[in-house]
Amino acid sequence: MHPQVERTLEEVKRRNPGEPEFQQAVFEVLNSISLAVDRDPSLADHALLERLVEPERQILFRVPWVDDSGTVRVNRGYRVEFNSALGPYKGGLRFHRSVNRNIIKSLGFEQIFKNALTGQSLGGGKGGSDFDPHGKSDWEVMNFCQAYMTELSRHIGDKTDVPAGDIGVGQREIGFLFGQYRRLKNRWETGVLTGKGLDWGGSHARREATGYGVVFFAREMLLKRGEDLEGKIVTVSGSGNVAIYAIEKALQFGAKPVTFSDSSGWVYDPDGVDLDLLKEIKEGRRGRVAEYAERRPRAEFHAEGRPWSVPCHVALPCATENELNEDDARELAKNGCEIIAEGANMPCSHDAVEVFAQSGILFAPGKAANAGGVAVSSLEMEQNAARARWTFQEVEGNLAEIMRDIHTNCLETADEYARPGDYVVGANIRAFMRVSAAMHAQGVF
Ligand code: NDP
Repeated sequence: MHPQVERTLEEVKRRNPGEPEFQQAVFEVLNSISLAVDRDPSLADHALLERLVEPERQILFRVPWVDDSGTVRVNRGYRVEFNSALGPYKGGLRFHRSVNRNIIKSLGFEQIFKNALTGQSLGGGKGGSDFDPHGKSDWEVMNFCQAYMTELSRHIGDKTDVPAGDIGVGQREIGFLFGQYRRLKNRWETGVLTGKGLDWGGSHARREATGYGVVFFAREMLLKRGEDLEGKIVTVSGSGNVAIYAIEKALQFGAKPVTFSDSSGWVYDPDGVDLDLLKEIKEGRRGRVAEYAERRPRAEFHAEGRPWSVPCHVALPCATENELNEDDARELAKNGCEIIAEGANMPCSHDAVEVFAQSGILFAPGKAANAGGVAVSSLEMEQNAARARWTFQEVEGNLAEIMRDIHTNCLETADEYARPGDYVVGANIRAFMRVSAAMHAQGVF
């Protein structure tokens, strides 16, 4: 590893104690970037690496709100504005009890590179709260969102920082957040949030974008090997926004998705996922996946373990961080899995990724494979700025092209650095080149 990169990593560990996910995210990116710095040490001039790993701004705030029994509850709100060299900060908001500064920083750091890969003018950021929407009424979710936006509104704007959804933040939450922003600012500024409803500034295909994009990417990986998705067995984890639309696009390409999960367990349906039933349970009623197994004759619900023990050609982890570990990776390899594309952010542990490399499994990191969501968010901002509405087909066509370009660019860059087929190195270096050039051009700040 280049000594400058090593020093930066040591400093990251020293200055961010107790933040393992953030340290890991930085390590994984800098490990690849080291190859580029070896070739051209001037890339690291003017403390570029040290600036890159330090967020431009971190906002931490109190979110007091009132629950249905009249009790005042207090959560913590976060927004990390990491890097704006390429455009306004852009990245989702996560509402989940596991949220803390470490998680938000790690996701914000990843987001810089993901956004750069899309080729669009987007900086990187992330935010959220340790508020847990599970079991809360719509009124409670609204009260919380209004309280959260009351502080967040001071920091965001269509030219400053543009949040979107993530775990626990779907269209219901974006609606409450947008309503409160509008109330506070007294302006119709649709470009301030993405993932909005179609009638109030949203874009066709934004809901589908991340899941569809993952499958477009996985298909490109297969096409490169002279194969296609038709007839392939696909295992998926999660049953939220990303998982559901990954399953939908996989079905449209003639593949057979057979698993999905939530935090209560996972389901294996050997007959292939019945998407209408899954949507009815998860999107319609916010139910649990066990209900699906009760209504399908051969489907099995497992409260323990994970879907990665099911033999498949393609695996798409679409739930959350570190949900696929070294043992899971060995199981996938043993069962002949050919391709892994990350729908979630950082779902595969570092050790799992090593196993994929040793076993010849092609692996696409989330920053490349799940960039479709943010890419269509950017198309939503474009439509908002032009006060226009594109058709579903136009947006989906754009998405497919963006995913194809990301795929090609990752492979070209991997080849350039003598790492053919290494999507991790390709994605990290390609994105870094764009961000570092913009940072150098704009001077030290
Ligand atoms: P959702 O909240 O819609 O769905 C998350 C899903 O993951 C749910 O099924 C949830 O189960 C499950 N889940 C969450 N935590 C766990 C856990 N600890 N163990 C098992 N299952 C769990 O979120 P999204 O689909 O939007 O996001 C999923 C992933 O994709 C995240 O990593 C997110 O950062 C990433 N992503 C999302 C994008 C987007 O556009 N939405 C864009 C790019 C990446 P339950 O229902 O029980 O909570």
